[in-house]
Amino acid sequence: MQKIIMIKYGELTTKKGNRNVFINTLYNNIVKKLEGMDYTISKDRVRMYIETKEIDKCVSILKNVFGIHGIVVALKLENKDIDNIKEESLNLINKENYKTFKVTTNRADKNYPMDSMEISKVVGGYILKNSKEKTVDVHNPDVTLHIDLRCEGCFIYTNEHIGSSGYPVGIQGKGLLMLSGGIDSPVSGYLAMKRGISIECIYFESPPHTSIEAKNKVISLAQILCNYTDKIKIHIIPFTKMQEEIYKNNASSYMITIMRRMMYRISERVANINNCKVIINGESIGQVASQTLDSMRVINKVIKTPVIRPVACLDKLEIIDIAKKINTYETSILPFEDCCTIFLPKHPVINPNEQTCINIENSFDYDKIIDEIIDNIETITVSNKDDENLLELL
Ligand code: ATP
Ligand code: MG
Repeated sequence: MQKIIMIKYGELTTKKGNRNVFINTLYNNIVKKLEGMDYTISKDRVRMYIETKEIDKCVSILKNVFGIHGIVVALKLENKDIDNIKEESLNLINKENYKTFKVTTNRADKNYPMDSMEISKVVGGYILKNSKEKTVDVHNPDVTLHIDLRCEGCFIYTNEHIGSSGYPVGIQGKGLLMLSGGIDSPVSGYLAMKRGISIECIYFESPPHTSIEAKNKVISLAQILCNYTDKIKIHIIPFTKMQEEIYKNNASSYMITIMRRMMYRISERVANINNCKVIINGESIGQVASQTLDSMRVINKVIKTPVIRPVACLDKLEIIDIAKKINTYETSILPFEDCCTIFLPKHPVINPNEQTCINIENSFDYDKIIDEIIDNIETITVSNKDDENLLELL
C-alpha cells in the first residue's frame, strides 16, 4: 500500500477531439515543473498518477499548473478485496476529525463483482459499526471518503485539493504580453496563461528617464509569473530615443496616444519575429485617458495583430484581488517610475483624432527609429529558480 498523487484533468476533458494534445501538453508542463525532483509519473485518459516521497512539495507545485481540476493524495490498495477496502477505509477516515461522513464510490473497473452503490453501503456500514457516535450525512458531511476502483488498483482518499483549472499553458500557442511594472499587466499575463496561451514579454524602458530598479521590478514580476509556467522570455525595448523624438515634435496632449501607437507598432514587429499570435496587455476600459474606447480605437488602428485585454472589464479592486492571489501585488506597488509616467502631459487627450496622430507622426521618421530599436533589443530568459539573484538586484 502506497501513497500516490492523482491528478484530475480540468476543462480539457470537454474537448474530445483534442484530448490527447491536451493531456500531452499538461504532462510535459508537469514534467518541466517537477524538474530536479525524484518521482515517477504515468498518465491515462482520465487521470495522471505521480509517485514521490516529496508529496507536499509536489502538491504545492501542481496547484499552480493550469489544466488541473483537482489533486488528490490517495492510498493505492493493490489488494482490491472488499474486506481490505473496508479495513483501510476505516483506518483512513479515523485520521480525520469528524462527526458525519459519507462514502462515494466510482467503479471504473467494470469487472469488479459489486456495483458502486453496494460498495459504498458495505464500507459505510463497516465504518458506522466500528466507530463511536459517527453518523452518515449524504448531503453535508464533515468528511467524504472516496473509493475509486480502477483496474490498476483501488484508490481511497478523503481530501481533494482544488487545482487551478483552465487549459495547459501552450495549448493555444504564444502571445506577447506588454509587461509594465504596474498591477494590471501581470494579472493579464496570468489570465492569458490560464486560457492556455504561453507568454513572452515585451518591456519598454527609457534610460536614463527610467531606472534600473524599474527594469528589475519587471524582471521580478516575470519571475513570479513563472510559478504558473516554465521559463519566460523578456524582450527589453530601448525606447528612449522614440519617446524623446515624440516629445520634440510637440505631441503635447497627444504624447501618450502617439507613444502607445509606437508601442503597438513595435510590439507587432516583435510578435511577428517571435511567432506570437496575439498581443496581450493590461488595459482596462476607462482606467486612464489612453484607455477610453475612443483612445483604444485610435491606438489599435496601427496594427493588425489581435490584442487580448484580459482585465478590460474588471474594476481596479477586482484586478488587485487577483494580483494579491497570484503574488504579484507587493512587487507591482514598489514605487519606480515607468516610461509612461515620465512624459505624461497635464491633460492627455481622451478622444484623440486619428488624423491629428498621423500628422504628428509624419513630422519625423519613426520607421527608421523602429528599425533601430528592433536591432537593439535585449532578450533575457527568466525562471522562478532565479529568486536569489533577483533579491540582489532589487
Ligand atoms: P499596469 O496597467 O500594468 O498596472 P500601468 O497602469 O502603469 O501598469 P498603463 O499606463 O495602464 O500601465 O498601461 C496600460 C498597459 O500598457 C499596461 O497594462 C501594459 O500592458 C502596457 N504598458 C504600459 N507601459 C509599458 C511598458 N513600459 N512596457 C510594456 N508594456 C507597457
Ligand atoms: Mg493600468
